[in-house]
Amino acid sequence: MEVINSIKLMQEISESIRYSGKKIAVVPTMGYLHTGHLSLIRKAKEIADIVITTLFVNPTQFGPNEDYDKYPRDFNRDFELTKNNGSDYLFYPDTKEMYPINFSTSIDISKITEKFEGAFRPGHFKGVATVVAKLFNITKPHYAIFGQKDYQQTLVIKRLVEDLNFNIEIIIAPTIRDYDGLALSSRNTYLSTSEREKAGILFKAIETVKSEIAKGQRERLILNSHLHKTLRQIPEIKIDYASCAIANTLDEPEFFLPGDEVVILIACYLGKTRLIDNSIIKIPYSLNESNFKEDYV
Ligand code: AMP
Repeated sequence: MEVINSIKLMQEISESIRYSGKKIAVVPTMGYLHTGHLSLIRKAKEIADIVITTLFVNPTQFGPNEDYDKYPRDFNRDFELTKNNGSDYLFYPDTKEMYPINFSTSIDISKITEKFEGAFRPGHFKGVATVVAKLFNITKPHYAIFGQKDYQQTLVIKRLVEDLNFNIEIIIAPTIRDYDGLALSSRNTYLSTSEREKAGILFKAIETVKSEIAKGQRERLILNSHLHKTLRQIPEIKIDYASCAIANTLDEPEFFLPGDEVVILIACYLGKTRLIDNSIIKIPYSLNESNFKEDYV
């Protein structure tokens, strides 16, 4: 596996791979890799000839009071993991390379970015959309793999690709979870031992809502109240949002209808650590319908 720091060199390499008729998949990451990231790299290797993993902790997607400076970083470990999981190139630029002094452009996607993460992290999706557009232009992929873990981000990227006519197929990979259902995240390393023990409550809250839906509950606010009630079993949790919405639009109707794909979204703080999770479930047409799990697989 080759490490590439230069945008120009990465573009030349990608161009020549495309010219040779091979397919490129890109896996954008901020590093400090875990099994979730590695599952994306392995999926990329299944569908494409050449995998480019990108490693860049993008400052513009962090708010002024967020954890950019203390975001965990370990290049040597990430290098070994990407190499051993089938990545052909690791694109690893520094901040000056990505944002030279005169850099002035940003991509602002409306509507889908306005609620949930967008409301609690102003400017976050502007940073994400801009850096992802740059990474697409640098790595020139046929496919780009993102995790369902960052569900709203997947909607933002799909909108970006459609609106700006990137000729790239977006593939969403399932969320990889720990033994108690906690979604793997680089930020989980911030959790103390006792916080880590409590963090399984997010998954439990999601499961509670799924079982309410299975029992026939369709009223959004009641479903939301089940989420909140379960999360509040851990008194030190501070909820940013815990809500059900229509999966592809994030609309919030009073009642969900049969056939609706509903996303259950949670963002909360456990101590100083912000955790997010989600799951998608299809509202069944009848209560006997058993197969109504709709997460990405
Ligand atoms: P990050 O390094 O947090 O920016 O994440 C890079 C990519 O990995 C994004 O597409 C994430 O959605 C994805 N990802 C993060 N955590 C997981 C997980 N637990 N399972 C699957 N994909 C994940």
